[in-house]
Amino acid sequence: MDEARQGSEPAPSVAAHNLLQQELITTRARLDRQVAQLMRLNQLSNHLLDRIDRRPVVEIFAEAVVDVLDVAVGAVWILPPIDAIARRAFAIFGTDASEAAWDTLGAALAARLPADGKPARLPVDGAPLLPGLDLRTVLACRCVGREGKTTAVILAANTVGVDAMTVSMSEESLQMLAVLAEKCAAHIDNNVDRRALESSKEQLELVLRGTNDGWWDWNVGQDTCFLSSRWMEMVGTPDAAAITREGFWHDRVHAEDRDRFEQALQRAFVGADRAIEIEVRLCRDDGSSLPVLMRGTILRAEDGRPLRMAGTIFDLTDRKRYEEHIHQLAFYDVLTELPNRRLLVDRLQQSLLARPRNGQVAALLMLDIDRFKWLNDTHGHAAGDQLLKALASRLRELVRPYDTVARLGGDEFVVLLEQLGTDPQRALATAQRVAAKILNAMDQPYTLSVGTVHHSVSIGAVLSTSGDLGADGMLRAADVALYQAKQDGKNIVRLFVPAMQEQVDSRSALEARLRTAFASGALKVHYQAQVDDTGHLVGAEALLRWTDPDSKSISPSEFIRVAEESGFIHTLGGWTLQLACEQVVRWRGRVPPGFRVAVNLSPPEFTRPDFVERVLETLARTGASGSELRLEITERTVIQDMHAIVHRMNALIGHGIEFSLDDFGSGSSPFVLLQELPVREVKIDQNYVRRIMDHPKDAAIVRAILAMCHATRLRVIAEGVETAAQMAQLGTDGCRYYQGYLFGRPVPSAEDPQELLEVRAVS
Ligand code: C2E
Ligand code: MG
Ligand code: MG
Repeated sequence: MDEARQGSEPAPSVAAHNLLQQELITTRARLDRQVAQLMRLNQLSNHLLDRIDRRPVVEIFAEAVVDVLDVAVGAVWILPPIDAIARRAFAIFGTDASEAAWDTLGAALAARLPADGKPARLPVDGAPLLPGLDLRTVLACRCVGREGKTTAVILAANTVGVDAMTVSMSEESLQMLAVLAEKCAAHIDNNVDRRALESSKEQLELVLRGTNDGWWDWNVGQDTCFLSSRWMEMVGTPDAAAITREGFWHDRVHAEDRDRFEQALQRAFVGADRAIEIEVRLCRDDGSSLPVLMRGTILRAEDGRPLRMAGTIFDLTDRKRYEEHIHQLAFYDVLTELPNRRLLVDRLQQSLLARPRNGQVAALLMLDIDRFKWLNDTHGHAAGDQLLKALASRLRELVRPYDTVARLGGDEFVVLLEQLGTDPQRALATAQRVAAKILNAMDQPYTLSVGTVHHSVSIGAVLSTSGDLGADGMLRAADVALYQAKQDGKNIVRLFVPAMQEQVDSRSALEARLRTAFASGALKVHYQAQVDDTGHLVGAEALLRWTDPDSKSISPSEFIRVAEESGFIHTLGGWTLQLACEQVVRWRGRVPPGFRVAVNLSPPEFTRPDFVERVLETLARTGASGSELRLEITERTVIQDMHAIVHRMNALIGHGIEFSLDDFGSGSSPFVLLQELPVREVKIDQNYVRRIMDHPKDAAIVRAILAMCHATRLRVIAEGVETAAQMAQLGTDGCRYYQGYLFGRPVPSAEDPQELLEVRAVS
């Protein structure tokens, strides 16, 4: 793609995409941590409900502390009431330090802990809690049994070594410790107190709610299912009878996910998987569906029979939204919200793959906005963006819903027309009809905030029947056809034919050769004399020469176009200007006053925003003065944005540089240009000069040019003067300056500028 074709690129979507991905990963990690904690809480509830009568309560709780809080040491003490004579019970888990040392610690802690049952973080620095056992990050909580008779102390801690390796205990750990303490208290006075259990369950739910998960617990034997209030808040309230495995899952899991879910459940039940983790949609009461991540673990009897299954559901709505957003960023263009190249290629590939089966022909239309760069340069990128959006929605409205309108970037759009039928001729006719419709619709004025603008589009088209091109090949072919449409005058459609590809191939081969030739020094700058009517040297034009290793010379008219299209002209033009400036400095003192070296400029060079600076830099670097330089522009340069061009010209004129309008008369509106442009000189196109003797019309035009230029005090130079007769005729019409083989061919730089005049042409 040539440099001039790049339009305004929307905000850096890749960065946004990466950021979102990072966010997603962080969220996921956080959720995983929470889920791990919840799983432990579930395990705990299973411990409590199933093993309570087989093991001492304190032991279960001490173990649960280690399990649930993920710490190294857990301990529980039951302290006797002051007036009762009872043996105190305690259990430690996670350390084999001597029990004797721990024995009295419970009572000591009870005295230090808040009486209201709030958990606390104990300072241990300075005075170790236990001699010989260096505990760090100690959390403890005091709880009192329902009857108020018994007090328990529960402790979670890390040893120094472990503490350094684990994530520090957070507020959540404190909260969980409180839940455990509460549960423990429920068991103190009387082993299982129903109401206390209820309230501890509420606490647990509170914690679960904090993590935003819905908790479920299914008793397999009784086929009853407990659902937490958060669960119901998320999904809905099933009536009591429905909360059984059969009714509940069957109604709640989305019909399309049900088989998958049942299979996962089955695998977990037969023991293939220890747990399930599955993304499903649950049906809400209001008929909508909720995407959730469902996790569950199975608790089995000693004989392996599943007793309970408990787990959580996590609302995936946000994550799905993130995913959708990421998908949107990855497959859609941010500015226009149209599919991007990736999605287009995907759809095109699908369409091509389906072709052997359904025989349907597809067509690809590639569009490029004419003069888009001009809009961007003149009115700024905001205006460019507005046009892109307006054009995108206009385009979208024109095609059928199953056609794809995509933005490739810059000002390039693609319309993929699918299902055009199986007859290639008809498909072609339809594609051409759609293309004509697009041309017409895009050609209507656009109202932007900077005013009403008018932009046509050019279209390159290719059909899926044009050989076995593949998706990329079709895009390339459409691009080639688009290029041809632009070359052929814009605001038209060109259908891809293989000959276009050949042309493109030979152009790119020429471009590659040109770059190599430049790098290897095969390009030279020659100079051609410019003289006055007395034959004295007044200036010289710098002209590029390229001689191939096989000593075939390639005309600048051929390779300059290629260099312009590929952007290489910036390198080439900069280099030529530099050499010409160096040359004119070397010629100083040997040339008459007012002598200038003329350098040709290509349109892309001149329209480059930093052009003025580049020229001034070259002058500064080479030591040449602006008054020694003349820049030649053509009508092609001015076609873009007259205002900006004039502005740049004036900036350079301010440094003594003069401008010359080359090939004058060859364009469509030369006289209009003269009115607008601050040029000092006009070069009569050599085609007129060549025909001046034999074609009265051409002679008349030359006379008119000379008369008008003299009236407006413009200097006129006739180029391509090969014969004395031509010179005489031009002189009679009032021409004073000449360039042509009659005075000298373009020659390599000579030390003495007069040598430019020594190579005479045969007349
Ligand atoms: P131009 O700027 O109009 O240059 C004049 C062309 O006429 C040159 O062709 C020159 O060799 C040729 N010429 C001069 N006197 C005669 C004559 O008496 N008879 C005939 N038949 N031709 C004559 P050349 O060197 O082949 O360049 C062709 C065009 O390539 C130039 O036309 C110019 O537009 C472009 N070009 C050449 N060098 C450069 C360059 O450094 N930069 C850019 N941008 N364009 C260049
Ligand atoms: Mg020229
Ligand atoms: Mg010329």
